[in-house]
Amino acid sequence: MTEQDVIEYVQKKLDIFEQNAELECREIGDGNLNYVFRVVDQNSGQSVIIKQAGPVARISDAFKVSPDRNRIESEALKLQGELAPGFVPKVYSYDPIMNCCVMDDLSDHEIMRTALLKHKKFPLFADHITTFLVNTLLLTSDAVIDHKEKKALVQKFTNPELCEITEDLVYTEPFYDCEQNDVFPETREFIREEIWNDSKLALETAKLKFDFMTKAQSLLHGDLHTGSIFIKEDSTKIIDPEFAFYGPAGFDIGNVIANLIFAYVNASFTIEDQETKEDYLQYIQQTISDVIELFTKKFLHAWDENIKERTASAPSFKEWYLNSILEDASAAAGLELCRRIIGIAHVKDITSIENKESRALAEKICLTAGKTFILERANIRTGDDFVNVLLQSV
Ligand code: ADP
Ligand code: MG
Ligand code: MG
Ligand code: MG
Repeated sequence: MTEQDVIEYVQKKLDIFEQNAELECREIGDGNLNYVFRVVDQNSGQSVIIKQAGPVARISDAFKVSPDRNRIESEALKLQGELAPGFVPKVYSYDPIMNCCVMDDLSDHEIMRTALLKHKKFPLFADHITTFLVNTLLLTSDAVIDHKEKKALVQKFTNPELCEITEDLVYTEPFYDCEQNDVFPETREFIREEIWNDSKLALETAKLKFDFMTKAQSLLHGDLHTGSIFIKEDSTKIIDPEFAFYGPAGFDIGNVIANLIFAYVNASFTIEDQETKEDYLQYIQQTISDVIELFTKKFLHAWDENIKERTASAPSFKEWYLNSILEDASAAAGLELCRRIIGIAHVKDITSIENKESRALAEKICLTAGKTFILERANIRTGDDFVNVLLQSV
């Protein structure tokens, strides 16, 4: 839709604005795939967001991707809103013909990556994100819901095309000298030696790819980087779950951790004042540790409150299950750290480091930590363990 089409669409199809509303519309999307429109009534100030998925990616007509992703996103937001109230925008409607959904306008929040690059702090983030993670991951699993209901959800959230993007961009291409990779020249030699020439890493990433494709454990967000999080001091909202599907629960947790690490590495190369820098790095370290520790604590509590599957109450099963999630979280953090440096989709935290030598150093830190998270994942369990991988890599 054009901006004018969206205004007509809102007037004809939606019962949200007053009859005499004076609607203005602007396309505000910044992603690779979709169009995001903000519609505002100039009289009342009331506003909504309309997100539309086209049959091709926004950045290239040659890149076809099913608009069914807008159904997945709408359904995921609705379910996540029930399981984790207050942590996602409310969805007002989904239109399978136009492949668009209407949701709350969150313009009073800021995209978390942008905020972290300005070195802002969000003391409630770890608490908020871990509630979202525990509620959406545990409460969609076979430990809690009826197994037939769960299989119906697996079916509803079957998302082959977006899963294939992840399989290629996260699990495959970064780990060999693939043409589609986008390597910073100053880092290429390091990547060749440390990543592409490491046969152990090739084996472990292959195992992890098969886990991603086969382990239908929990309904994942599937793209939980800091660009999918809207934040302000007292509120955290998770958007953009178009990659949602049933996969290994640790995937979402690992992505959050890796993106905190990108913010850490950015801060360590861009904040000039030593005291300010130390303070901010300390804050990110604490947040990484808190995400793991609070996830663990809330998960164990929610398990005791919600578990329905009889066999899962066997002694030590809960601990075994949690450990496997944390192991997968470590792996997912490692994969995200590698793929955002080597693969086609970069993060601004790193690309905005202007000095070439600093950027190359920053990239090597991410890759070193990434590789450790993957190879040592069986021994990475606590908040301190996650932080230590980072500290040993700098
Ligand atoms: P994509 O799937 O294309 O990445 P996103 O859902 O991430 O799309 O949205 C792209 C951008 O649009 C966001 O970074 C944000 O700036 C804006 N946006 C998306 N959803 C909302 C919303 N509910 N309220 C306000 N702005 C939004
Ligand atoms: Mg985006
Ligand atoms: Mg998206
Ligand atoms: Mg997005």
